[in-house]
Parts: sequence; C-alpha cells; structure tokens
Amino acid sequence: MEKIFRILIVLLLLCACRLDAETSNVQHSAGAPTDPYAQQREQMVRNQIEARGVRDRLVLDAMRKVHRHLFVPGHLTQAAYLDFPLPIGEGQTISQPYIVAFMTESLQLKGGEKALEIGTGSGYQAAVLAEIAKEVYTIEIIPSLGNRAKALLKAMGCENIHVRIGDGYRGWREHAPYDAIIVTAAPPSIPKPLVDQLKPGGRMVIPVGESFQELILITKGRDGAVGKKSLLPVRFVPMTGEVQEKK
Ligand code: SAH
Repeated sequence: MEKIFRILIVLLLLCACRLDAETSNVQHSAGAPTDPYAQQREQMVRNQIEARGVRDRLVLDAMRKVHRHLFVPGHLTQAAYLDFPLPIGEGQTISQPYIVAFMTESLQLKGGEKALEIGTGSGYQAAVLAEIAKEVYTIEIIPSLGNRAKALLKAMGCENIHVRIGDGYRGWREHAPYDAIIVTAAPPSIPKPLVDQLKPGGRMVIPVGESFQELILITKGRDGAVGKKSLLPVRFVPMTGEVQEKK
C-alpha cells in the first residue's frame, strides 16, 4: 500500500515538472515575484478553473491569491496545484481546486457576507471564502485537523476566520443566520439545523448522498421558501457525528 502511494507521489511530481516545463514562457501575473508557486497557481486558475467555466472575478482572484501549497502536507507541496484532491491526514482530503472554486462561485458572494463552513479540514476553503466574505465561521470535527488549520490561518493573518472544534451538524447558532453556508463533508441527507441557520436570501452548497453524492444548491427566498437544485455529481468524505445516528 505504502509502495503504491510512493509510486503515485513520484508520478505526481513528474506531472508537476511537466506542467512547469509547459508554462515556462508564461509571465508571473499573480503573487510576489519571489513566490515559487505563483506560476503554478496561475496555470491552475486558467487551465482547471476558468477553462471549466468559472467566471466570477472575486472567486478567480481569491484562487489566485491563496497559497494552496501551504495547506497540504509537506511531502505533497509539489502536487498542491494539480487537478485532484490530496490527502491531508486522518483519512481526510483537501478538495480539487476546481471544486473549491465551483462551490465558492455557487454561493454568489459579493463581499461583506457572513459565511459558515462545515468541515474545516486543511483550512484552504475557509481561506478562499475569507478573501471575499467579511467573516467566516468554520467547524471541524477532528481536533488535530481543526487545531492545525487554526494555527496555520492565524500565522497567515486570516483574522476574519473563526475555527471551532466540534460536530457541525447543528451549525454554529451564536453567529447565525448566515448569508452563505458551505458543507465540505457529505451527509446522507440535508441537515435541517443548517437550513434553519440560512438567512432569507441566503445560499447553501452541500454534497448529499452516501457512496456517490450530488452537489446540491439550497436557496432560501426572502419569504423563507426553500429551493433545491442539483449542480454536479461529486465525491466527498462522509459527514460523521450526529448525522450518522439519524440514518
Ligand atoms: N474544506 C476542507 C476539506 C475538508 S474534507 C479543506 O479545504 O481542506 C471534510 C472535512 O469535514 C474533514 O476534515 C472531516 O473531518 C470534516 N467533518 C466530517 N464530518 C464533520 C462534522 N459532522 N462536523 C464538522 N466537520 C466534519
């Protein structure tokens, strides 16, 4: 198993080198000139995200700005900008860059919002949201991951992100209601407390289902009416905790 994993990493690194070679004539247009990953990040935005139809300027700028390589384990730094999810420890994963961008775009943030995330993981999605929203509240059920993300986000100076360790099934009532809610672990069905914590006019994006999931967009009208739309088939890690007892 470990051997297969090592082979996979070597393949990833080879891919990363190829990407570098292919893009060597592209000017650095994001980040400081000393940032060795600026070019890879720009390629990620153009080839994986814009090319698949994400157009929201705020989202594209946020994806250009956040240093994804700092959110992955050290031995995977070189693979941080490739087109897949990566392991972050404890059997969890950081989502593929395109999925992070797509989910963020589907929230239609304009700036100034209060957002809630369930499933902090590495803290990357929270950092992307925090580039646009005013305040981001994020909950992680695995203490080692939550504490690591908290320390990293603090070191990066992300003062508008608030990390809590716990089960996100019931949301974070003290700061509700939210303009936007993003769930990055899949429950078998939509947790009602999260829908209740959405503001009228608010939007929630959530993967729902067991082995395969649909990414669902939930909108709450000004009159409180709740609408649901299926956006994309996806694969996420399961939501654990209280939601599993309700099956
Ligand atoms: N958004 C993350 C990816 C998270 S993977 C990132 O950008 O890196 C999904 C995360 O959800 C895992 O870390 C998992 O531990 C967490 N999770 C699963 N069930 C949860 C629950 N009930 N409450 C809070 N977090 C949960």
